[in-house]
Order: sequence, then C-alpha cells, then structure tokens
Amino acid sequence: AESILTVRNLKQHYKIDQGWLKVDSVVKAVDGINFEVFRGETFSIVGESGCGKSTTGRTILRLNEPTDGEVIFEGQDISRLSYEQMRKLRRKMQMIFQDPFASLNPKKTVRQILLEPLRVHKLYTPKERLKKVIKILEIVGLSEYHIDRYPHEFSGGQRQRIGIAKAAVLNPELIIADEPVSALDVSIQSQVINLLLNLQKELGLTYIFISHDLGVVRHISDRVAVMYLGKIVEISKTEDLYNNPLHPYTQALLSAVPIDHPNEVKERIILTGDVPNAVNPPSGCSFHPRCPFAMDICSKVQPNPSVHDGGHTVSCHLYE
Ligand code: SF4
Ligand code: MG
Repeated sequence: AESILTVRNLKQHYKIDQGWLKVDSVVKAVDGINFEVFRGETFSIVGESGCGKSTTGRTILRLNEPTDGEVIFEGQDISRLSYEQMRKLRRKMQMIFQDPFASLNPKKTVRQILLEPLRVHKLYTPKERLKKVIKILEIVGLSEYHIDRYPHEFSGGQRQRIGIAKAAVLNPELIIADEPVSALDVSIQSQVINLLLNLQKELGLTYIFISHDLGVVRHISDRVAVMYLGKIVEISKTEDLYNNPLHPYTQALLSAVPIDHPNEVKERIILTGDVPNAVNPPSGCSFHPRCPFAMDICSKVQPNPSVHDGGHTVSCHLYE
C-alpha cells in the first residue's frame, strides 16, 4: 500500500508552571512516536483520556508545533514548512473535532462557514463555490434548505454533519477525526459513523481516527495504534489486535469491552490505579506500576518495539 503519512520520533513536550512547586515541569504529552498511514485506510489511535491521542492529532497538523521529529506528508516533511507553505497544504489535511459547537463560529451561517475555506484557498469561482457547498451539504445529509441557519439552530448530530462538511468541502486527502462521535447521543453515533464511512468511499479519503471507544474503532479501522502516556505501545491490523492483543495494556483495555463470543472469554485483567502523570512518567516501561506481568527489567529499561506476524508491532519486554 502507498504511504500518505509517516510520523517519525514525533515529540510534543511543553512546560507547565506547577504553582506551589515553584518549578517548571515538562509534560511529555507525545514522547517519540512512530507510525505510517496508508492512502485510503482508516488508522485509529486509541487509549485512555490523557494518553496523548488528541495532542498527536493536533501536532501532525501543526495546530501545536512539534518539539521534535518529522511528519512526512506525501513525501514532504511538513514539520519544517513555513507558515505560508503550511497554510496551503492545510487544504489537504483537515480535522474534525469532538465538539462541533466549539469549532463552528456561532455568528456565522452555514453558508458563510462552508464558503470561507473555499475563498481562503482561492478555489473555484464564486458561483462554483456555492454549488460545491450545496453538494457537500447534500452529501452529509443536509440540504440547501439549511444554508442560512446558524449552528445553534441544529441538533448535536446535525452540527457534527456541518463540522464534517467543513472539513470535506476542500476535498482533502487526509482527515484527522478526534472523538467525532463521543459527544453525541448513542442513537446518533452510528449515523455519523456511517456518514464518515460513505464519505471516505466517495471522496477517497484517508482517516486518522482518534477514539477511546474500542467498539467503534473495531468497526471502522483497518489498523489500530494503542497509546499509553505519550507512547505507542502496539500497532496492528484491526482483527489481529482484537483477536490477539500482545501488550498487557491492550489486553487490559480489551478485557473491559463486552465480548461477542462467550466461549472465548479470557481472564479479565483489571487496570488498577489511575493513568500516571505525564509530568513524571514512571521509569522504564511507563506501564509497569499497573502491569500484572511486570518484571525487574520493566522499571529500569524502556522496551523496544518488536515486529510479529502481519507487521503486528509491540513494545514490551515480554516479546523482546
Ligand atoms: Fe508489563 Fe514489562 Fe511489558 Fe511493560 S514491558 S507492559 S511492565 S511486561
Ligand atoms: Mg482527547
């Protein structure tokens, strides 16, 4: 498969002022991650909240500047582009946010919201722009009838359809969707997921799908990366990951998901304790304080990735 995006040793570290401590602490929100995304696939990033998934998405698009590393998009390292070069490229890389209400300007109508990106990127003539906007509204299940309304006049599901239209109107290559359905009623979630899948087929899109919902991720992904405290601990084709999770953290996440086949019930691994703080991540394998299989080496040495059947990659001393 053709690669569209390669992320190499990407880091997003930032300083926080810990007030009473009177010292600056460094948060390693994303701490040296590596992965490749293939054209036309859905690549998901999963993990508990606070593991760095959203920061990864934002750093790829340079909504946050990376501290270190490379983001190669269609063969070009975009982490080194100027602001102006990056602005042009942004047409091809769009983001869908969890809360469309926060990402849609409440003072603008749907017409203004959807025309603006086309105008900014100087695409089409004014007449063609309007046609394009109406077409994209229809694709996302709305219509010309909605064009002069404001975001607050829509339901949560409709607002997310507008958010999706705003991302798709520029004909991007890659869309990063950050928890796009988790703010919606469960009854609406599958409609929006199906819209995303249809849109992918229709426009030939590549998705990076960020989610904590392992059920949704299994349904829509070709491959999945599991993140823990700023690091990717496992990457695999979706079915391999769900049928044969290798990393103890992945096993724990999956054992919390309802199982379809009762005869396949495995012993549940219960995650104890909270996600440790990314300010002071544990030494060695940062999962070791919560890992039921931790060995002496685990608190001392960071595990390296090892590659197994079908490219299934895991970073854990049990497999080195
Ligand atoms: Fe558990 Fe050690 Fe593997 Fe980390 S490296 S997941 S602590 S066994
Ligand atoms: Mg998040």
